[in-house]
Amino acid sequence: MDFGLSDEEKMILQTVREFTDKEVRPLLPEVQKAEIRGERFPDRDTLKSLRQKARTAGLWGLQTPEEYGGANLNSVLNALIAMELGRSLVSFNFGGSADNILFAGTDEQKQRYLVPTIEGERHSCFALSEPNTGSDATNIQMRAVQEGGDWVIDGQKTWISNAHQADFAIVFAVTDPVNDRDMGWTERPIPLMSSWEASDMWFDSVRVPACNVLGTVGDGFGLAMQWIGRGRINIPARAVGQAQGLLQLGLDYARQRKAFGQPIAEYQAIQWMLADTAIEIEQVKWATLHAAWVADQGQDPRHYASIAKISAAQMVFRVADRMLQVHGGMGYTREIPIERILREVRVYRIFEGTDEIQKRTIARNLLRDYVRVGD
Ligand SMILES: Cc1cc2nc3c(=O)[nH]c(=O)nc-3n(C[C@H](O)[C@H](O)[C@H](O)COP(=O)(O)OP(=O)(O)OC[C@H]3O[C@@H](n4cnc5c(N)ncnc54)[C@H](O)[C@@H]3O)c2cc1C
Repeated sequence: MDFGLSDEEKMILQTVREFTDKEVRPLLPEVQKAEIRGERFPDRDTLKSLRQKARTAGLWGLQTPEEYGGANLNSVLNALIAMELGRSLVSFNFGGSADNILFAGTDEQKQRYLVPTIEGERHSCFALSEPNTGSDATNIQMRAVQEGGDWVIDGQKTWISNAHQADFAIVFAVTDPVNDRDMGWTERPIPLMSSWEASDMWFDSVRVPACNVLGTVGDGFGLAMQWIGRGRINIPARAVGQAQGLLQLGLDYARQRKAFGQPIAEYQAIQWMLADTAIEIEQVKWATLHAAWVADQGQDPRHYASIAKISAAQMVFRVADRMLQVHGGMGYTREIPIERILREVRVYRIFEGTDEIQKRTIARNLLRDYVRVGD
């Protein structure tokens, strides 16, 4: 394993660091104020202008192939960048990317959906989960029936992130079409534990032209798993960064907060919380970079990505809870980001494969000898 970065990669990471310090981290007080008002920040307009600024600095399309104007950076570098952004505790990512499975479209679909999404002119959502099936994605009930040149879709999707602002949806039915908003689906936001936005979506005899089928009819499940696979490296990378940001808050507070005549950092109980956190972050960081490295070697990263995802999802929640404890009563307020992050990261243990589904995958890989102990 060689995580050694080239000079060019180090420079990119340095640019990300400078951009984050100058443009992203300073937004944190505004994020907290918006949180108290029950709003989400950065809002869409702020995100758009921030992404344009980043584009000028050369930070755009980091995971996008060069033929679409992207930088096509490898998974290790993308993971390091996600950690850097996560550390800011502000919800931001660079522009110029699109759902990886849109690259499976026809030339016409790419012009209509992929290119404008990369450019930030169109917004998609990924609609797989249904009221009666989440973990068992092979069991989706929504049907798409062919009528003449169209597919007619009936049924409901649920928990669909960003559906409220998407102008097209990648919908998984017994057949898998891409569905523009003006074709007639409706949606309603679901009140959630954090400011993450997800909706129910209803399809009432929505007609979708056959030319909107993404990939080959019958192959949708493979595409869905490909989409989810990417998240299983991005999520842990982001979580590692968020945990680092939380640890920094804990360190800063422990040094300045006094109790019984001295800084609480002097007490072993506090030191152990800080040390346990540093230990756990380090472990998960390397597990995540290893999964990314396996992907970069052109090997199947799923086993290692599942290990990284479940470890990171559990770790960052524990870290948030621990850093809240270091802050005492202050940690329980909305003035500082800890309780917000605690609520936000709890979903990492649920979406894109619950903890239990990750463990199921890991155990199966071992029991079926897809991966051998010691590999
Ligand atoms: C905020 C948020 C955003 C989301 N965004 C999207 C999105 O954009 N697109 C999308 O399609 N979906 C999205 N989801 C849905 C998400 O992927 C599902 O919630 C998740 O897959 C779990 O499915 P479920 O909620 O139906 O739980 P269920 O599958 O009903 O599971 C309930 C419990 O049973 C456990 N369980 C299930 N099967 C097994 C098993 N075989 N062995 C052991 N335990 C098991 C689960 O781990 C869980 O603890 C989102 C969810 C949330 C909360």
